[in-house]
Amino acid sequence: MNKVIIEPFRIKSVEPIALNNRNDRLEILYKAFNNLFLINSDDVIIDLLTDSGTGAMSSQQWAGIMIGDESYAGSNSFRRFNKTIQEFFGFEYVIPTHQGRAAEKILFDVMCKEGDIVPSNSHFDTTRANIEFQKAIAIDLIPDDFKNTQFEHPFKGNIDLEKLESLLSANSAKIPLIIITVTNNTGGGQPVSMSNIREVSKISKKYKIPLYIDACRFAENAFFIKKREKAYRETSIVDIVKEMFSYADGCTMSAKKDGIANIGGFLCTNSKKLSMKKKDLLILTEGFPTYGGLAGRDLDAIAIGIKEAMDLDYLNYRITSTAYLGKKISEYGVPVLLPPGGHAIYIDASIFLPNIPKENFPGQALACSLYLEGGIRTSEIGSLMFGDNSPHELVRLAIPRRTYTQSHIDYVVEVIKYVYDNRSKIKGLEIVEQPKFLRHFSAKLKNI
Ligand SMILES: *Cc1c(COP(=O)(O)O)cnc(C)c1O
Repeated sequence: MNKVIIEPFRIKSVEPIALNNRNDRLEILYKAFNNLFLINSDDVIIDLLTDSGTGAMSSQQWAGIMIGDESYAGSNSFRRFNKTIQEFFGFEYVIPTHQGRAAEKILFDVMCKEGDIVPSNSHFDTTRANIEFQKAIAIDLIPDDFKNTQFEHPFKGNIDLEKLESLLSANSAKIPLIIITVTNNTGGGQPVSMSNIREVSKISKKYKIPLYIDACRFAENAFFIKKREKAYRETSIVDIVKEMFSYADGCTMSAKKDGIANIGGFLCTNSKKLSMKKKDLLILTEGFPTYGGLAGRDLDAIAIGIKEAMDLDYLNYRITSTAYLGKKISEYGVPVLLPPGGHAIYIDASIFLPNIPKENFPGQALACSLYLEGGIRTSEIGSLMFGDNSPHELVRLAIPRRTYTQSHIDYVVEVIKYVYDNRSKIKGLEIVEQPKFLRHFSAKLKNI
């Protein structure tokens, strides 16, 4: 009979939010040159810039912080960390790193060389950058229909198996590994089905190419499999997770996502030879193989967070509350990427602001309006971030884990509706100053 899904936790420690008004924000936005990365967190009311490292740790995780063992070698924290990851992910070798991109750097240093091709459903931006740093080529193989933000599919994160097979049959000697990103962050937090992972694994075995999973949101992906893939309705999240990883030869992970930790990551593999090479590199850049650039206490927080992320009540609340935001605003007419993703809602700014051309950054203009009208910080994923070749003009509302309550989200809905009603007044932007690389972090813009 109970239809309301509640936050399955009580709040023991609170962090105050400083409220400000529209006039304050007008000045703050002016001083930050319309770039939300240049605003202090104190000046933000609801921060939806990212879900990375921004989640709230549980009392169990904080207890784990206290029992962390800071021994340089042979730490108990590493033993607990290693055991947990081996148990659920099933890989033989577990290498801790300070975050996900450090695991990627080591993986591609060891496995990739100039001219190689690395296919994926969609590479995350740090993954792509690490592949390109090796002078290799990162290729996204999403079905063409999925590029339409309004096209609905239960597993819109799936890789296109035909495209994969044809790439492999022509170039298998140049392909050192295949990567499946779960959930597909760049593609809108969309899940990958178990059958898609299984088929990719078959193809990878046929061509003898290792399959790695970018596992950042493995638990959210497992929940979508349970809800949307008939054969898994009665399967536990833990068993779904174990099966997902059973098809892979290794994985990279950012514990700042479904590790519900504030920092950390790891790299897993089943290959002894690779694990030795990876550990050699780890010592050069990250630290001894039992801590990998992290404190012992971080390893405990991650080991506990990974288990909490697979709790069914938590996942039900997590995925339903993200969908709640998506549903409330799309019912009002706001164009969002469909269906709602696991960790974020993406507004399609090219439909929201049809009169602002790409050159004047509709996504950034919308993100600035959401800040001005409600103190909400979001991120543009469009022409400001990717330049002229950006396929979309999106504004991402990423939801930190266990951090905001339903009334915070209701407030976000109210602000978005107000901005939508007044969208004809929103003006485009132009760049006045920009750096050479990754310009979205520091570019200065002005209203036209
Ligand atoms: C965040 C993320 C990464 C990189 O992890 P960091 O901890 O930020 O270095 C890699 N892949 C995906 C899909 C991510 O979301």
